[in-house]
Amino acid sequence: MVVLMVCVLVSSVGAAADWSAVEEADVIVVGAGFAGMVAAVEAADTGARVVLFEKTTRTGGSVVIAGGSLSGANAMMQYEAGITHDSAEAFYADIFRLGRGKHDPQLAWTHVRNAGLAVDYMDKLGVDFGDRQPGNSAYDPFDIDRQYMAEDGGLGYYYVLDAEINKRIERGDIQLFLSTEVVDLLQDKTGRVVGVTAVDAETEESQDYTAPATILATGGYAANMELIQRYNYENALTAALPHATGDGYVMAEKIGAGFANMEYLPAYPGSIPLPDSDYRHSVSAQVVNYPGAIWVNHYGQRMSSEDGLTVTQRQDVWANAPANTVFILLDSRIRAENESIVSGRDWEYFDGLIDDGVVQVADTIEELAEKLGIASSGLVETVVRYNGFVDAGEDTDFGRADLAYALEEAPFYGFKTYPYVLLTKGGPTMNTRAQLLDTDGKIIWGVYQTGELVGGANIGGHGSVGGLAHTINVVWGRISGQNAAEYALMQRQ
Ligand SMILES: Cc1cc2nc3c(=O)[nH]c(=O)nc-3n(C[C@H](O)[C@H](O)[C@H](O)COP(=O)(O)OP(=O)(O)OC[C@H]3O[C@@H](n4cnc5c(N)ncnc54)[C@H](O)[C@@H]3O)c2cc1C
Repeated sequence: MVVLMVCVLVSSVGAAADWSAVEEADVIVVGAGFAGMVAAVEAADTGARVVLFEKTTRTGGSVVIAGGSLSGANAMMQYEAGITHDSAEAFYADIFRLGRGKHDPQLAWTHVRNAGLAVDYMDKLGVDFGDRQPGNSAYDPFDIDRQYMAEDGGLGYYYVLDAEINKRIERGDIQLFLSTEVVDLLQDKTGRVVGVTAVDAETEESQDYTAPATILATGGYAANMELIQRYNYENALTAALPHATGDGYVMAEKIGAGFANMEYLPAYPGSIPLPDSDYRHSVSAQVVNYPGAIWVNHYGQRMSSEDGLTVTQRQDVWANAPANTVFILLDSRIRAENESIVSGRDWEYFDGLIDDGVVQVADTIEELAEKLGIASSGLVETVVRYNGFVDAGEDTDFGRADLAYALEEAPFYGFKTYPYVLLTKGGPTMNTRAQLLDTDGKIIWGVYQTGELVGGANIGGHGSVGGLAHTINVVWGRISGQNAAEYALMQRQ
């Protein structure tokens, strides 16, 4: 049964639809981030009456603080730039290479076939792509330039989508409820999803809302340390916005969805945990070819070269370190001759970290190990061996090229770092129509998904594919919106 709850309808154009949205919704979209906004627009344009629930007080989710990349083959901007030799096949080959073959082939193929169109879609909506020159990824590079940057970063996408949502609110095709958190999916006796339970943040009232189709667009779980510890890292910090609590994962699990690639999460290396930071990332150590400094684990052992690594290789060091903890060590000469090892901060800031007990200082390597809580004999052995490599001009353990500094001038400095996450990469299993699948691979009828929730690794494998997260929002926002609407309208007949 449908219950109409007293709820503040928020439309930035101030016009409520004349149909009783909650009673007659065809499609419920949960989450009004980039992905949910595209899905809502697309479902409405396919003829559905759409209700969009958003738990915070605003639309946009993470994209308002994000960079501006999208990626796709055969976008109009590529043709304009004279790049005519790209193809879905070439993009797929790049995903295979960059993602180490861990993607779902059907989902990846669907994605690459639609990604160029998704770029064109945002282009036609009026996103400003600046000089419109396709570029390459800031991560591990594509074989062909197929990344496009919005002039205003993520906000560039948000502005045009906000306008599209408002037009449809004005037309009465979409109703948007802010401060309304979906806490559960409703299922009928056959397991089909037939709506949601939502809670109004103001009144704390909980009500059920029914609709033939529901699209989950709740984003990732990068701000939910419990889920990160369950699936990915014993220790990590986060730079994600607080809304990213993985609600869609919890709801999908409850209705029996399967999951894939949950173990994969490419976090950024070198985040320095500060006292009372409540898992928030704020400062990082410089970890890209910083002169002299070495990285060790709890046993005092080096784990890789500290220079010449690809983005993915660097991420893997932190992912594979015991307790995801990497200690960074330097000596006084390195400090005296280089800019601060804390990114974007000076040595004075570094001294502040010493006062706060974040950075340890010692006159000997043994003492430094004790202060850092790592194996003293292991660290002494490592430093002696490393200094030998510097003398010999060759690192026979890991092939580090920069051997300009031995660690020999006291005082020595050391501090602990963790990886930090921006977004998550695994997700509930789905088919190419964006329908959720259960653990046996069977369709769970009535529920679709899009956005970060679908899992970038299910599309792009275990690697960083430039612009993938945003392009997923568009490709799978459109696919989920169209399919959910068609399914819902069919149910109504
Ligand atoms: C700093 C930063 C930079 C980035 N830069 C890039 C980049 O350059 N390129 C790129 O491709 N990607 C980038 N990303 C990743 C990308 O922005 C996100 O993966 C993507 O925007 C996620 O979109 P989404 O709509 O799926 O989720 P979100 O943006 O997280 O939106 C989900 C929405 O759902 C709402 N919600 C959640 N649970 C519920 C619930 N239970 N009920 C109701 N509402 C709910 C949330 O409040 C939120 O508004 C970046 C991310 C960050 C944090």
